[in-house]
Amino acid sequence: MPDVIVGIDLGTTNSEVAVVENGQPRVLAEGGDPILPSVVGLADDGRLLVGRAARNQWVLAPDRTVKSIKRKMGQDVKVALGDQQFTPQEISAMVLRTLKARAERELGVPVAKAVITVPAYFNDSQRQATREAGALAGLDVVRILNEPTAAALTYNPDQSRAERILVYDLGGGTFDVSIVHTENGVVEVLASHGDTALGGDDFDELLLNHVADEFQEMYEIDLRASRTSRARLLAAVEDAKKRLSDHPFARVEEEFIAEKDGVPLHLSTEIDRGDYEELIRPLLDRTMECLQRALDDAHLTAAQIDRVVLVGGATRTPLVGQLLEDRLGQPAHREVNPDLCVALGAAVQGAIVAGQNVGSVLVDITPHSIGIKCLEYTGAGGFRANEFKFAPIIKRNAPLPASRSEVFCTVSDSQPTVEIDVYQGENADVRRNHRVGRFMIEGLAKVPAGNQLLVQLDLTLDGVLKVSAREKSTGLTKQITVENALARYAVTERAAAQARLDRMWADLESLAHAPPPPTDDDPPPLPASEFGLAAASMPTLDPGPREGQRETVQARALLEKADRIRAKAAAEDQEELDRLAGKVRDALTDRRWNELEAACNDLSDVLFYLEDA
Ligand code: AMP
Repeated sequence: MPDVIVGIDLGTTNSEVAVVENGQPRVLAEGGDPILPSVVGLADDGRLLVGRAARNQWVLAPDRTVKSIKRKMGQDVKVALGDQQFTPQEISAMVLRTLKARAERELGVPVAKAVITVPAYFNDSQRQATREAGALAGLDVVRILNEPTAAALTYNPDQSRAERILVYDLGGGTFDVSIVHTENGVVEVLASHGDTALGGDDFDELLLNHVADEFQEMYEIDLRASRTSRARLLAAVEDAKKRLSDHPFARVEEEFIAEKDGVPLHLSTEIDRGDYEELIRPLLDRTMECLQRALDDAHLTAAQIDRVVLVGGATRTPLVGQLLEDRLGQPAHREVNPDLCVALGAAVQGAIVAGQNVGSVLVDITPHSIGIKCLEYTGAGGFRANEFKFAPIIKRNAPLPASRSEVFCTVSDSQPTVEIDVYQGENADVRRNHRVGRFMIEGLAKVPAGNQLLVQLDLTLDGVLKVSAREKSTGLTKQITVENALARYAVTERAAAQARLDRMWADLESLAHAPPPPTDDDPPPLPASEFGLAAASMPTLDPGPREGQRETVQARALLEKADRIRAKAAAEDQEELDRLAGKVRDALTDRRWNELEAACNDLSDVLFYLEDA
């Protein structure tokens, strides 16, 4: 039996251990929880605490608790834990020992070997300290692996495809962006940049200040002044921040958080995702500057990146995905849980060292976007009447189960009813997608247009879709359940939709981005509805063709044609064709788009001549 080599992500905030079994990487959970907080403490009776128990006591007993020890790895310092002093290696070893014990319990065999991941920017002494921590925990560290390399391995375990993968890693306290190249079993970090003091914890601080300022204005009490009320508020805003990743609003409610003149005060406020995004945007802009530096260092343009991979819990923030898509022209991969991605990749590396075969990580994702029909909001209370759009709520490739909500508004004054018309597909024109269900919500408040409705979709692993609509001001709710929502988009319909898309693409090429004129294939306009809904802001679908994609399609078609014509051509023509096709292939491989266009023109001229001959 081959050695068990586990993969360990030894993180600043959290750590995980994973293993490959029967070719499948999986994270080892305890009591259903795959995450071990990287926190070590001593209980008041002197017992050692590692993980959640230690993290829970941190606010109350900071002198007996150590967190974020990863920041001190490689430094010649000691940290106090109660009345004893420990090196960073010793503290890390306690986390590693706990993970080793977890793996042994879960697997039922001794575990003596591990691959441990470190940030790409770790220097030799930091790497050495990580090895020592492993040894102190009784582990033979067979490999120290860069975190972005691990993430790349998770998505491309056999490294069969030559790929340039951009790994964007935004955790609790640190940010890294790396560009990794995989080819023929070699994985190389081409460039890496980051900020060791930027992460989701900073978002919490911004949100905490926002809520505390509001509270102070109302009651003249600063919740930050008391350690316990600050800690409670921090936990509450972190929770709200996470909910804002899937919902447009989040409430923060904390009872008895302060007292004024003997009267208890409660905190109750609502945070709007738009306001939250405004708060964190400057921090995310900084990450985009790092990204640009990494691209520059690797001498690559955005179009040369084949895949964008998200790592770290804070990448669940929708604005992160949106900014990356705007900058890089392709949606980021978030199929593999971003908290577990690095540990899974470390396990893949362990299995490779042990000589095992490894398959890809199995994830359940939704193959189509699911959303509703709505009118496009054009700002300042206006919308495009009678032109129905598709507003995706759960986007394609979202991991299952998925639960998301978005806000929509009524379009006329005192509108009593709205129609919730649910579709799946990828087209912005809702008529080209597939309807999966419909219902009305009646008896809405008699208020001016702009009455907000929260539409929530919950999709289970078995494809059961629950759609609910709630009038925000009154709580009036209606819902339906659609069984088999994932299976409804029949293959034939998908093929037809694909053919339509291909035709649109061809139109796009010939008309140089002019919108295609209506054709006989266009579905008839949908009837105007007095029960309309408008999207408060239009969620985006996957972007259209990326830079160079049109040229690539053209070049491939031309090369195929050259192959066909070459078979019938004379020897000297074959030679000329080979020369020109070679130039096209070179320009295509190196993504030199201008050169590719010129080479394609030359090849096309000769083909034209030979075709006629
Ligand atoms: P990591 O260091 O990778 O474990 O990332 C932890 C950070 O991710 C913390 O700041 C968390 O608050 C944040 N986080 C976890 N889940 C979410 C979520 N659903 N939306 C936004 N941030 C999240």
